[in-house]
Amino acid sequence: MFHWFRDHRRKKLIQASFSASWEEIIIRNVVHYSILDDTHRTQLQDLIKVFVAEKNWEGVGDLEMTDEIRVTISAQACLLLLGLPHNYYRNVKSILVYPSTVVPPKRKQGFFENSFALVESEKPILGQSFKKGPVIIVWDAALRGGRHPESGHNLIYHEFAHKLDMLDGAADGTPPLRDRTELRDWVITCSREYLRLKKETQKGKKSFLNSYGATNEAEFFAVATEQFFDQPRRMIQNAPDLYRVLQEYYRQDPYECEKRKKGKA
Ligand SMILES: [Zn+2]
Repeated sequence: MFHWFRDHRRKKLIQASFSASWEEIIIRNVVHYSILDDTHRTQLQDLIKVFVAEKNWEGVGDLEMTDEIRVTISAQACLLLLGLPHNYYRNVKSILVYPSTVVPPKRKQGFFENSFALVESEKPILGQSFKKGPVIIVWDAALRGGRHPESGHNLIYHEFAHKLDMLDGAADGTPPLRDRTELRDWVITCSREYLRLKKETQKGKKSFLNSYGATNEAEFFAVATEQFFDQPRRMIQNAPDLYRVLQEYYRQDPYECEKRKKGKA
């Protein structure tokens, strides 16, 4: 019964045309949108319509929640879903948005939260993903990431990659994969690259990937996701196998998108 209502409501949301002002927001704040082809753009718009409507959006502190904030965050979160089987991040109910960099207050553990699984530990933070609980986003960092893909940092990709990772119940750097062959390839490739990053970080060497990815496997996947979408060329040049397993997982090829866009320009 519940699914019937939900599916019906989603169908209605998707049928409505995409707001022109929302698209203006995306064009202004999410550079990646400009390299998508028309099919992916339409698909992304449909995802955003549902995602904006179904999640609880809360501004914290003096942040006033606006369409710009909801749409900018949704566009980047939903971009990860374009090639995935998904249920609009069923493990995300609420998105808490702070105006700028914060050290969040301690949250009381909920009754059902037997593991207070905090993924990030660094302070001050830009974002956090709780295994059972909200995604916390800092608005100025979210905006910066969307507008400057060349930086290779994207808070939204990072936090929502954690949520994809957690879909199978474990924040271990391996999201649900399609079959054993894909899993084998994933484990071999990612553990090799993770260990390489760890070694280089320990030696104080700069790697092509952000050293924060050496924290643990979950952070590695989140950091690799940021670079996969933001600096695909850099990843292909430095770790072609890592690019390939991420491409197989996300069923997207940001490098091809970039090339096609440049060819047209
Ligand atoms: Zn993280």
